Amino acid sequence: MTMQADNNTPAGRTKTPGTTAIAVQSVFRKYYFTQAARIEVPDRIEEREFGYMRFGDSFPAAGGAMVRHLAFRSVGELVASLIRDPPADVFCSNAYYRFPANEMREKEWRGADLIFDIDGKDFDLPCVPSHSYLVCRECGFSDLQENLHGPQAGLSFVCPSCKASRPNITSLPCTKCIDASKNEAIRLVSLLSGDFGIELDRIKVYFSGNNGFHLHVSDDSFNQLDSQARSDIVGYLTGNGLMPESIGVRKAGDRGFAIRFPRGGISYGWRARVAKKLKIDASSEKKLEHIVSQKGGYAGFRTELERIAREEGLVIDPQVTTDTHRVFRMPGTLNSKSGLAKVRCGNIGSFDPFTEACLLEDQEIITTAKADVKVRLRGKTFRLEVKERSILLPAYAAVYLACKGLAELEISS
Ligand SMILES: [Zn+2]
Ligand SMILES: [Zn+2]
Repeated sequence: MTMQADNNTPAGRTKTPGTTAIAVQSVFRKYYFTQAARIEVPDRIEEREFGYMRFGDSFPAAGGAMVRHLAFRSVGELVASLIRDPPADVFCSNAYYRFPANEMREKEWRGADLIFDIDGKDFDLPCVPSHSYLVCRECGFSDLQENLHGPQAGLSFVCPSCKASRPNITSLPCTKCIDASKNEAIRLVSLLSGDFGIELDRIKVYFSGNNGFHLHVSDDSFNQLDSQARSDIVGYLTGNGLMPESIGVRKAGDRGFAIRFPRGGISYGWRARVAKKLKIDASSEKKLEHIVSQKGGYAGFRTELERIAREEGLVIDPQVTTDTHRVFRMPGTLNSKSGLAKVRCGNIGSFDPFTEACLLEDQEIITTAKADVKVRLRGKTFRLEVKERSILLPAYAAVYLACKGLAELEISS
């Protein structure tokens, strides 16, 4: 095994994990021990860089430093390491390198899969404050965001218990949140296959393990693209910079604009999306002329196009796609923001993360709620109240709440 970072011994940590972190880590260990087959081996594993987030002072909220520049020659080596000292999160590079364990400038980049990140929190849904909690970093006090001071509570939060500010915000995504990012994933697949001609079997869709979806494109014609080319792809998908010329409207003449439809027609890609919005087709030059005039000419029409682009463009994280040296959550591993796994979606339309990605054991753990909370996992509803004494919950539910910072767990024997 080639491993540049330290050897993952507890002694190497800056802080010993608390009881809850130890309990969660133990459940994670059992998952990696019994369900290692769920870990999806990346192509060319020996050319990938791996990274870990450790349990320890960063759990249950991410924030610690990532251990990077790890390399494994086989999935067996990786799994052995995950069982020996289970990390909170496991990442694998989208890039292939000649020397993946070396420092960045000495890795020798050989290409990178094209990846996309759709994050539920980017949709600003009205349901979010009703299922988001503020958790005090100092004393662990937590309460629903909307119970505190309304949706903006995070900005002016003062902990009622210890007076500290700067809380963590943790969200228990609801099915509306999941549906929003699911629909975006479906639209992204459709654009990648329709507009870019990528074969559907080259596009893999994964639930991220918390509140979103990841797409991995494994197509050789994309893996050599540099950061700028990937940024151009993002620009296209988001509709950023969509110009009137693309639909045949240009600056000219006395009236300030002229119209000639592109030779390639308007039945494809963004042209088709804009045409549909404007209810025009290839025979509608007069109608488009009328629309442009109504919008106040070229500049006004451009503003209208920007509005259409915002409506029709995809909501994806540009940095994830543009970064050709990223380590990205590894399929089949657990997400420490939830204890759910990053899993491949068979049928994205009917995919239910709260059953299909909820893969931890059901052995019971003594759980103490830190806030009144209700959660539905694997078809069962769990209701916890702060005033209740500790209760027994199956590990998958106990770990979910602990990862959200909303419960404390005891170490089971
Ligand atoms: Zn506090
Ligand atoms: Zn929601």
